[in-house]
Amino acid sequence: MAKKLPFTKSQLEEIIQQYPTPFHIYDEEAIRKNARQLIAAFSWAPQFKEYFAVKATPNPTILKILREEGIGADCSSLPELMLAEMAGITGENIMFSSNNTPADEFQAARKMGAIINLDDISHIDYLEKHTGIPETISFRYNPGPLMKNGNTIIGYPEEAKYGLTKEQIFEAYRIMKEKGVKHFGIHTMVISNELNPDCFIGTANMMFDLIVEIKQKVGVAIEFVNFGGGIGIPYKPEQQAVDLQYVGQGIKKAYEEKITANGLHPLRIAMECGRMITGPYGYLVATVLHKKQIHKNYVGLDACMTNLMRPALYGSYHHITVVGKEDLPLDHVYDVTGSLCENNDKFAIDRELPVMDIGDTVVIHDTGAHGFAMGFNYNGKLRSAELLLKPNGKVDLIRRAETIADYFATLDVPACGLSKAAATKSQN
Ligand SMILES: *Cc1c(COP(=O)(O)O)cnc(C)c1O
Repeated sequence: MAKKLPFTKSQLEEIIQQYPTPFHIYDEEAIRKNARQLIAAFSWAPQFKEYFAVKATPNPTILKILREEGIGADCSSLPELMLAEMAGITGENIMFSSNNTPADEFQAARKMGAIINLDDISHIDYLEKHTGIPETISFRYNPGPLMKNGNTIIGYPEEAKYGLTKEQIFEAYRIMKEKGVKHFGIHTMVISNELNPDCFIGTANMMFDLIVEIKQKVGVAIEFVNFGGGIGIPYKPEQQAVDLQYVGQGIKKAYEEKITANGLHPLRIAMECGRMITGPYGYLVATVLHKKQIHKNYVGLDACMTNLMRPALYGSYHHITVVGKEDLPLDHVYDVTGSLCENNDKFAIDRELPVMDIGDTVVIHDTGAHGFAMGFNYNGKLRSAELLLKPNGKVDLIRRAETIADYFATLDVPACGLSKAAATKSQN
């Protein structure tokens, strides 16, 4: 599908006048529409809940928009729990799917009444010691070699650090039943950025089988199942988005064959998607600073890998639009780079693009999830602003850009001439 922008060139120019590049901008209307499509695909289920993976887009304004659509939060740290709270997401609308978790974070999650999803059998004792045993508990399942289709981001389940083995799962529910837990859930997350809809149906079948087995072996009736996140998005123009309706119907069929047929209806269904909710509806906007021709042709932007790490981290493709040049032939080949002293600081390598000039506005697509969120301060780079394009066409600043004063905020040293000057200079 052709990659389109939610704004015209002149609209974008106006936005840039007020908020200098680089920045991430999110399309509220598209996020809402998309969230509704996911929920609609599971309208057959006794109850469906999406817990948005906060790590994907940790901005309270975005979380609040999602809350208005009936979406909760999947958190895995104290600051993420706090972000959920800031957005008004409370109690069992939060799923705490953490791993290698410190005691104070379990305590905070308990205090908020979040659903705790334990990542290991040893965490039963750890949780009991630090917070007591809650009435509701979930465990994360890792099928290991029992599942055949791993993929590249999470890898093969047997190589993944997460979850409990099958033997441990039975033991864990048995222990928790003895300890008086009243409500049980189960969780898994075995695929990431997956576009094949049959993978999600496969995961559901695996989990429904396991739920039947848990009932038979341990006598515990699981009340909700969380399939995790992992729904991919079409980063490349030739890729297809996951057909959510198809996934929903495939899972419905498995539900009827396994859950209903075994007398385990009603079972609540949950997911923790991050990427597919916001990913396609965020854009990193940057300006061409320099061009250079050596052994290859380079175009240098005012954004860098600290604004979007995925290409450097995973070799990911992110589509690039040179604004106003959409109809020009793609007759140039460039490496599109940032300014880090790291040669993998490239948004694109050998990309066919229209002729690019200094001052051109460049939009990097699909940065709405795991984009800004993965940002860092290496080489003294500052995090960008985040903007929200509202349904009425207006733009809100939902996170200001970092300033040099923010960068120095954790140091307690006397200011020098340069840093004094910088601290008084404010950016947008
Ligand atoms: C990262 C993560 C998610 C979200 O993954 P997406 O690929 O963004 O859908 C959900 N649950 C857990 C436990 C995660 O670690």
